[in-house]
Amino acid sequence: MATARAVPRSVRVFRALFVLAGWAIAAWGITAFEPGRTATYVGYAVLMIAVRFFRIEGSFDFPLPYLATAIAFTYIIGFPSITLDYAIGAPILLAQLALAERGWVRSSPALQLVHAARGNRRESVRALIDIMAAYTIVTIGLAFRVIVFHTLREHFAASNAMALIAITELLAMAFVGVLTFSLPLPPGEVFKAQAPWRFALEDERADITYASTLLLPLLVFLICYGFEVHGIAGAFAWSACTLGPHYLLKLLKDRRTSLVQRHQALRDLNADLKRQQEDQKAFVYTVTHDLKSPVSAILLTADAALERDGEEMPAGTRDDLDRIALLAAGTEDMIRDLMGLFEIVSAREPFQPVNLSDAVTRALDVLRPQLAAKRVHVEVDALPTILGQPSKLGHVLANLLGNAVKYVPSGSGRIAVTADQCDGETLLCVRDNGIGIARDYHRTIFELFVRVPAHEQTVDGAAVPGTGVGLAIVKQVVEAHRGAVWVESAPGTGSSFFVRLPDLYPTRQ
Ligand code: ADP
Repeated sequence: MATARAVPRSVRVFRALFVLAGWAIAAWGITAFEPGRTATYVGYAVLMIAVRFFRIEGSFDFPLPYLATAIAFTYIIGFPSITLDYAIGAPILLAQLALAERGWVRSSPALQLVHAARGNRRESVRALIDIMAAYTIVTIGLAFRVIVFHTLREHFAASNAMALIAITELLAMAFVGVLTFSLPLPPGEVFKAQAPWRFALEDERADITYASTLLLPLLVFLICYGFEVHGIAGAFAWSACTLGPHYLLKLLKDRRTSLVQRHQALRDLNADLKRQQEDQKAFVYTVTHDLKSPVSAILLTADAALERDGEEMPAGTRDDLDRIALLAAGTEDMIRDLMGLFEIVSAREPFQPVNLSDAVTRALDVLRPQLAAKRVHVEVDALPTILGQPSKLGHVLANLLGNAVKYVPSGSGRIAVTADQCDGETLLCVRDNGIGIARDYHRTIFELFVRVPAHEQTVDGAAVPGTGVGLAIVKQVVEAHRGAVWVESAPGTGSSFFVRLPDLYPTRQ
């Protein structure tokens, strides 16, 4: 919340004089009372107490029923309406303060200022003057309406009263807007609605406040119309009807406020989760990194011992040392691949067009020695260009093609890369005629460190080395592109790895 800036003394004096001007207009209105209209005056007073009560409710700051009724009745009864409004206003204000103090009604933002200043007489008076200044701008607008309306009526006696009201309303809105803009008045909902550019209303209340301002002339018009057609009863009826839009707007405002709060809560939660995720990643990366040195040391020590004393060692000890070296080497590979996964997955990379044909060519270039050694035949279709993270998608293709090469037999291996595009999606397929994968492992092989047991998968009579990290990288990258990866395969029939990538817009890093 912005802290209130100190208001200069000259401005305070101006506001006090402004309030006095309002009182002067109200006092002058006494001279305009017509004894024959007492019933209308009493009716208006009752109506104002009722609509002001709805203002007291306080959770919707813009007093739509009050303003609509006050404005409409200045057309109906002229200056006395202002006098009556002032006469009712003071006791209502006191009642509002007393009720809010007991917690029976929620006080409006303006009254909260008075509450906050309680105990400090000077501040209380200042707060009251600010509230009264807000009333006075309304009063001046009302006086403007009475004068303009009567002047127009004198000049265009034959014209329809409703048409003159419409013209007067337009002029009055402009007049009050200019006054609000140019005078050093305290900010309040009414002012904000009149001069939104001055207060830069941007929060969730803005459009509700604008909607109230736009509804105001319509409601004024309806109350006046009710009076024209059905007299005071008609005005009463339409005035009561203003409560409908008022509550509708209040409801919308409450809903929006709760939505904004929920939205903010979700954003905070999201930020927390992101932070936690980053912390966890950093932790795992550090642990993995720290494990690397001791594992390398174990491997080196075992190798050194074997080289130095291998000949003299009993066969059992040598076998044990061999096993230690083998396991340490495997663990070292796993740590290396795991750190590779972290580096690939957490690298920040913008989304940009990725030519999949070029990416496949690059991956095959790296695999050329293995392809040549196993005499693998590779076919690549024309592949599309899609939006994605080039280097990460490069790793996806390198892993899938690398696996295909690893798991096809020497001499008769075939690999095909194809792609289909439909419904805004690209379906990429890397197919091989290798050893295939049993159905039980179709899901799990995409998890970290999961491999099909070595004795179930041999190529050219030997187990295939690996760490079970490659497909985990593929899955994470593809899912970060909001895509999916899966395999169709059976032992002995080869494997088809599918990657579905939706058309993306660069919203993620
Ligand atoms: P790695 O190949 O290092 O073991 P991956 O995560 O790349 O790790 O693969 C996990 C497992 O999925 C492999 O161990 C293998 O059992 C199986 N696999 C992956 N690709 C193929 C393939 N093209 N043909 C047969 N099995 C495969």
